[in-house]
Amino acid sequence: MATHSQTLSTLVDGILRGGIRVVDLTVPLESATPTIQLPPPFAPSKPFSLEEISHYDERGPAWYWNNIACGEHTGTHFDAPIHWISGRDLPNNATDTIPVQHLIGAACVIDCSAEARADADFLLTTHRATDPSVPDIMQIKNTANRAADESVTARFTSASGCTSA
Ligand SMILES: [Zn+2]
Repeated sequence: MATHSQTLSTLVDGILRGGIRVVDLTVPLESATPTIQLPPPFAPSKPFSLEEISHYDERGPAWYWNNIACGEHTGTHFDAPIHWISGRDLPNNATDTIPVQHLIGAACVIDCSAEARADADFLLTTHRATDPSVPDIMQIKNTANRAADESVTARFTSASGCTSA
């Protein structure tokens, strides 16, 4: 049986040599990045904004950096339990306290890249849709015979320009 050190070495070696393919599922932030908007009287989220501080110029001759602003729930992110009132009182419920072991595990990646390319408003639901042609996450996981206890479900839309394997 491999030790944890050997397992980690195998993983790193696979990534470096290309035997393990790493797929970046993140989407770059830009001013057009959609943000969740709630109806009044609930407080709104700011859209993403980027303000240049310096760009190898008199404001900073050897460096380029920016100020950024946006709501926490903008672009690619995960919602820590504290985000919802149902997780408000859980221990280690914030992004800086959640155990890292909770963020690593088997994942079911649902490739929606074709649907997202065909329809920018493509909607993947978490519940059984009334329209049987609209897929939902559980239906896809069941079809793929994926374990219901997989802790991570990722939606791949290819929005950032990368393609699936
Ligand atoms: Zn969120």
